Amino acid sequence: MIVAKQKKVNEVIDMLGDDFNSLLIVGCGTCVTVSLAGGEREVNSLAEILRTYYANNNRDVKIETETVKRQCDFEYIDQLENLIKENDIILSLACGIGVQHIVERHQDKIVLPGLNTSFYGATLKIGEWSERCIGCGECVLDQYFGICPIARCSKQLLNGPCGGSQNGSCEVDPDIDCAWELIYDRAVKLDKLEDLINYEPPKNWEVYRDGGPRTLIDQEYHEDRKE
Ligand code: SF4
Ligand code: SF4
Repeated sequence: MIVAKQKKVNEVIDMLGDDFNSLLIVGCGTCVTVSLAGGEREVNSLAEILRTYYANNNRDVKIETETVKRQCDFEYIDQLENLIKENDIILSLACGIGVQHIVERHQDKIVLPGLNTSFYGATLKIGEWSERCIGCGECVLDQYFGICPIARCSKQLLNGPCGGSQNGSCEVDPDIDCAWELIYDRAVKLDKLEDLINYEPPKNWEVYRDGGPRTLIDQEYHEDRKE
């Protein structure tokens, strides 16, 4: 899932500025609900904080809230059409994709990001998430026994460890596991250590972001378009 963190309230207030009378805060019911940043609970709690702030500052601001299933699908954004039109500013508590998807449908509206989108991660425990994938465009997890050296090794090493790990921790950040120690341990457990001897050539980064913004086209639905 996409992991995100809410911006600080004073940052949000600065970003909103003074030149508006109505605000719609839109949450997203998928990834950012799980990462406790932009679900219904966070939307309502931010709305309450902002209502109190504007009341205390003698500002008459109308604040409405709504949480859709996914802001990255027009199907759900379109359900908000009237609400979006009725409000001066839209504050999206989705990842950056949701914000831009609302903009795409409402070119004349100011749409602001209420979250800082962080990474693709997994939940380790309540309130703790860890990066697991960077969307490199060509998954090589099969070669590393299901542990991603691109997302989880600080140096993105594909051919073994850097040699700096200490007691299983990464030398760059001792708070994270050394990905290569995890890979090695998995190889031992699966009795496939010899598989790691093969040299892995440099990765094709053209399929990653370095080749420019990417679009994925499913030929089944778009026979007229080439990938
Ligand atoms: S190899 Fe690429 S696609 Fe697979 S988990 Fe790692 S970053 Fe993600
Ligand atoms: S200590 Fe491990 S995870 Fe950290 S950079 Fe070196 S090989 Fe990668």
